[in-house]
Amino acid sequence: MSERAQITVAKSAGFCPGVKNAIDKVLELAKHSKKSIYTLGPLIHNKQVIETLREKNISAVSSVDEIKTSDAILVIRAHGIPPAEEAKIRALTLEVVDATCPLVKRVQENIRDHSRRGYATIIVGDRDHAEVIGLMGYAEGPCHVVSGPEEAAALPRMEKANIVAQTTQEADVFFAAAEAARKACGELIVSNTICNPTKQRQTETVEFSRNSDLVIVVGGKNSANTARLFQICERLAKKAVHIEREDELREELFKGAAKVFITAGASTPSWMIEKVLEKARELSGRAESPLAEKFSFAWKLVVTGSLYTALAAVALTYVCMKLEGTPVSRKLLLMAGLFAFSLHMANRAVEKGAAAPDKARNLLFVRYKTFSRASALVTGMLAVLLSAALGWKVFLAAAFFWAAGMMYPYKLPLAAFPASKDTVTALGWAFMCAWAPGLWHAGTASKSTHLAVLFAFLLVFMRSVLSGVINAHSDMIVGKENFYKAAGPRLTYAALFSILAFLAATLLALKGLGWKPHLAAALLTGLVYYLGLLLFFLLRRLPERITAETLIDTQFILLALLAWAV
Ligand code: SF4
Repeated sequence: MSERAQITVAKSAGFCPGVKNAIDKVLELAKHSKKSIYTLGPLIHNKQVIETLREKNISAVSSVDEIKTSDAILVIRAHGIPPAEEAKIRALTLEVVDATCPLVKRVQENIRDHSRRGYATIIVGDRDHAEVIGLMGYAEGPCHVVSGPEEAAALPRMEKANIVAQTTQEADVFFAAAEAARKACGELIVSNTICNPTKQRQTETVEFSRNSDLVIVVGGKNSANTARLFQICERLAKKAVHIEREDELREELFKGAAKVFITAGASTPSWMIEKVLEKARELSGRAESPLAEKFSFAWKLVVTGSLYTALAAVALTYVCMKLEGTPVSRKLLLMAGLFAFSLHMANRAVEKGAAAPDKARNLLFVRYKTFSRASALVTGMLAVLLSAALGWKVFLAAAFFWAAGMMYPYKLPLAAFPASKDTVTALGWAFMCAWAPGLWHAGTASKSTHLAVLFAFLLVFMRSVLSGVINAHSDMIVGKENFYKAAGPRLTYAALFSILAFLAATLLALKGLGWKPHLAAALLTGLVYYLGLLLFFLLRRLPERITAETLIDTQFILLALLAWAV
């Protein structure tokens, strides 16, 4: 067996935002439209993902002439196309969906604006790459494509020129090409158009490659950005390999490798990176001990099986009962747990990955969905039955909220509204955890019930938004029903910090007014955990999905423990 190696996976590995957005778009179209869907060229350069898309009737065509029906949707992929070609396809009867990455659009605009002002265009990139072909179409004057400094040195004399980079270009190559081009130009504008996700990926790759004995680059062999990433690694690391699948790894590769770094191109799905990581652990002697493996498998079941979420709902109900001053009812605690379990499983049943791994996993996936639906129905009905023992008002409200929650994932008109998923989830939990105890105890909602409802609503809203952040970063399809997707990162974090500040201010005011001061102080302490969690997410320290879901739901358990201690 080889030495035990330290394995690091690049934080920037996996789909870039442009690719993720394009995949989300076509899968959403496939879900809601009966028309045939075509992409103009393969959506991404990854064989496995392309095969999965084909199974969903999303095919790639090299030209619109290959589409024989007008009842079709044509998707322009993230790389973009020349404006003349776009005008041509928009004149046809086909429905056209533009999934060009906004960062590519910026380069297109940059080229068009400068060329209109009389600047010649120089693009540093691969002249056969679809993005470069698209960019060339935006130059309204002379345009040259160079692969690097050697070709740039041979450029003809130009009075004034604008040099741009293909978005996935290597920074060193771009600046060297710009220096070489300067000699041929009277005036040269250097527009560094390498996109930010690529810059982050390259910076991380350079830093880790220098300190690694072995670098594994995962991604399609025909992917230009993966090939470029591999070139950097090959230059800097002691040993580097470019693989498409985990079964290309061999044990000899890990001999003497104390530090292993795994990175991936912008078109590599995260499930593929996970498979490579698993295999690398096995071959480098880093596989988990059998006991740790069993524990992590069991924990995965607890989290993906929604049991931890059910416990979180029980904990929040306990906190709300304390806030409202009602006796702690075991029936209500159980009902809240069943309710949360049911709705969470109903959601799991409709969740979709951007690309399902392989056939065996697909089969498991289908079985898991059937199980999720069945368990959601059974536990939900149990929760509603239990609510009948708590009075007819609680029963009616429980039946209403459960039915609405169950139907929500199945195209309720409400699902089209931005952030509707987070709002509906928060409303459902706020009813079950805060309103139901008040109704049961006093027959009507008191002031403290209203306070508890607001508290629960805001906490669960934050929980749902943070879950959306995780899903959006792990190849899950997230639509505008999720706040993060609808509002974007900046607004999302601004909203989350504002809610947190509002909750903290409310608890401080209650403490100052002498209203349950010990409880208010305990809950205020619990919000510090929330603050840490938000900062952790904001700094993009996004952990893998199971850990993230555990961290998010632990907040309620922590609040319950603090409330219990006072
Ligand atoms: S590599 Fe950059 S520019 Fe290209 S699709 Fe991805 S995010 Fe957009």
